[in-house]
Amino acid sequence: MEENKSCALCPRRCGADRTKGEGVCGCGALPRVARVMIHRWEEPVISGGGGSGAVFFAGCPLGCVFCQNGDISRRENAGKVGKVMTEDDLADTFSALAEKGAATLDLVSPTPFSDLLIRAVKKARESGFSLPVVWNTGGYERPETIASLKGTVDVFLTDFKFLSSSLSRRLTGVPDYGEFALSSLREMVKTAGDPVTGDDGIMRSGVIVRHLVLPGQKDDSLAVLKKVAGTVGSSSVLLSLMSQYTPEFYLKTGDPELDRVMRRRVTTFEYETVRAEALRLGFDGFMQERDSATAAFTPEWD
Ligand code: SF4
Repeated sequence: MEENKSCALCPRRCGADRTKGEGVCGCGALPRVARVMIHRWEEPVISGGGGSGAVFFAGCPLGCVFCQNGDISRRENAGKVGKVMTEDDLADTFSALAEKGAATLDLVSPTPFSDLLIRAVKKARESGFSLPVVWNTGGYERPETIASLKGTVDVFLTDFKFLSSSLSRRLTGVPDYGEFALSSLREMVKTAGDPVTGDDGIMRSGVIVRHLVLPGQKDDSLAVLKKVAGTVGSSSVLLSLMSQYTPEFYLKTGDPELDRVMRRRVTTFEYETVRAEALRLGFDGFMQERDSATAAFTPEWD
């Protein structure tokens, strides 16, 4: 695989020769699959009644200090967990998840294996696999990689974590997260089109933007929503506004003020302010709140 000899699949473009070792993301030539499961807690259009067929890949191009999956995502852990799988193994796994009744195929943190996953999905489809394929990503993507997924991926389920470069540098280790989240989002909308949901309530194509409201970062959340609405239009995506930040996973950044604020939960005022802005901008989608403000938003997806 040419990509693995000088990898540039994600914005890190670290140039690692993954046939010989691991890149900055912790990934070698073949994926380590940390978990395969029926996942009932994604957004309703992804999980449906049967749950999504989730495949969790170890490793990640980002290094978020608040990551809840650090045991499988951090570089130092990525080479130690899970099971190494070939594209044939993956194609069989995708078909097995469909046979178990999964509503969608939910590829979690797939970016470092984009090229291999294109081939694995093709192989599964040749054997009759037909679930919508969901690219469940942290949003730190290259538009070129997203464009290469046309015809493979049906739904992009992407984070848009921050816009501020200073915030992204301190919380993820990269200063250009917002820049790439935006340019790749533009490409996702171009590639997957407007959201389309079937009569069974399962999304067939389109983009869902996830945004987790962080403590003390309300202004950046508002800037993210405005930027998304201003760039692709609020009706071109579904918004999944998340409130479940948990400080338990937070690692120190060495910035005393940031460390202090990130050790608390999000306040009701912060979350409600961001939610009001989402409504004002005309986003449709999902919120992790019991008292949804309009019928367009679905309360907690349990
Ligand atoms: S996907 Fe991994 S190996 Fe490839 S450029 Fe990104 S960090 Fe480097």
